[in-house]
Amino acid sequence: MAARALTQLQLDRRKALVRCDFNVPLHEGRIADPARIDASLDTIRYILEHSGSAVLCSHLGRPKERTPELSLKPVAEYLSTALGSKVALAPDCIGEVTQGLVAALKPGGALLLENLRFHPEEEANDRDFSHELARGKDLYVNDAFGSAHRAHASTVGVTRFLAERAAGFLMMREITALSALTHDPARPYVAILGGAKVSDKIGVIRNLMAKVDAILIGGAMAYTFLRARGVEVGRSRVEEDKLQLAGELMAEAGRRGVPLMLPLDHVVAASPEAGTAETVETIARDRMGLDIGPHTAEQYIARLQGAKTVVWNGPLGYFELPTFARGTLKVGEALANLAGVFSVIGGGDTAAALSNQPWSARFSHISTGGGATLEYLEGIELPGVKALETRS
Ligand code: ADP
Ligand code: MG
Repeated sequence: MAARALTQLQLDRRKALVRCDFNVPLHEGRIADPARIDASLDTIRYILEHSGSAVLCSHLGRPKERTPELSLKPVAEYLSTALGSKVALAPDCIGEVTQGLVAALKPGGALLLENLRFHPEEEANDRDFSHELARGKDLYVNDAFGSAHRAHASTVGVTRFLAERAAGFLMMREITALSALTHDPARPYVAILGGAKVSDKIGVIRNLMAKVDAILIGGAMAYTFLRARGVEVGRSRVEEDKLQLAGELMAEAGRRGVPLMLPLDHVVAASPEAGTAETVETIARDRMGLDIGPHTAEQYIARLQGAKTVVWNGPLGYFELPTFARGTLKVGEALANLAGVFSVIGGGDTAAALSNQPWSARFSHISTGGGATLEYLEGIELPGVKALETRS
C-alpha cells in the first residue's frame, strides 16, 4: 500500500478538497513569511491546469472558536496574486453558504475555506464534521505534510468519505525523501543530532540508532551526554534528570557497535549574550558550551566522507547568534558539497539554520515538517500519510 500521486487522479471537471498547510506566521495581520503557501502552489496549479477545481482548506494558529485575527483572508489575497486569478474566501469551512460557493465553482477555479480550527470538531476528528467537509467534493488531495502527525478531520476523517485520494506534490516529496531514510538506506548512513534537549529527541535517537552506522552529536544535547560521562561542562545546558538516560543511550550505542561521537572542543561564553566567545577543550565552571569547536567540526566532516545517506536534526550550536552558528554552518556546507550522498535536513530550527545559505539547495531534501518530521524519524507512522494509502 502506498499513497497515490496527484498525477494519477482524474481531475477534469471534478472538485478536489485540498488540505494545505497555510499555517503561516502573521505579523500585524500580514503574512510574515509565505514559504508554506509557496510550497503548495505547484499542487494547486496542477489541479487548476487540469480543469479540476480546488477547494483549499487549512488551519491557522490555534483558535478554539471563531477568531477574526486568525482568518485566512490574507492567505486568500496572497493566493489570488500568486495564482493570477481570484481565490475567494468562504465565510466558513462548512455550512450552506460555503456549500453554495463550492457548488458554483467552475473547472479551473479555486476557493479557500475559512480556518478549519474555528470548529473544535476539526481537531476532534469528528465524524459528522468530516462528512460535511467532504460534501460536494469528488476527490481528496493532502499536501499538508506539516500536519500529517495529527489525526484530524481534514487530515484523516475526510478520507472515510472521499475514496479517491492522493498526495500533493509537496507531500509526495516529503514521503519519498523520508521513506528513503527508513527503507533500505544506502550505507554508510550517518545521523547528525543536535538541538536543545535530549528529552525532545529520545525517540529519534533510539530509532536512528538501530539504523545508522554512526551518530554525531552536537548542540546543547551534547552536554547532557558529556556530563553523563563525567566530563566537566561548566554552566552548559544540562538536563540533570536525563543523565541516566543519556548513559543508557550511550551504552546501547556501544552494544550495537554504533559510534556515538561527542564534541572534543567547544565555543564557550559566560552567556549567549556575553559578547566574548573563546574556543576551549575544557569548559571552565563559569562558562557554557554554545557551539562545537573547529576541531570537532573537522572530525565530524571527516566522518561524513564516503557517507551515502545522512539525516540531520538539531542545530549544533546556539545558531541564532552568528558567533555560535559557525559549527552548524561549517558542517552544513561540507555536507551540502559532499558528492554522492542522499542528505535530509529535518526539524524546524535545523531547517531555519541551514535553508537560507547559498549552498542549501545542494541538500537532497529539506523537510518542511517540524513535529511531523520528528515523529517520522522516531519511527511513528503518520496518520495523515497512512490515511492516503489505498490499495493499488
Ligand atoms: P529542531 O527544531 O530542528 O528540532 P531543536 O528545537 O531541538 O531543533 O533545537 C534548536 C535550539 O537548540 C535552538 O534554539 C538553539 O539555539 C538551541 N541550541 C543548540 N545548541 C545549543 C547550546 N549549545 N546551548 C543552548 N542552546 C542550544
Ligand atoms: Mg525546534
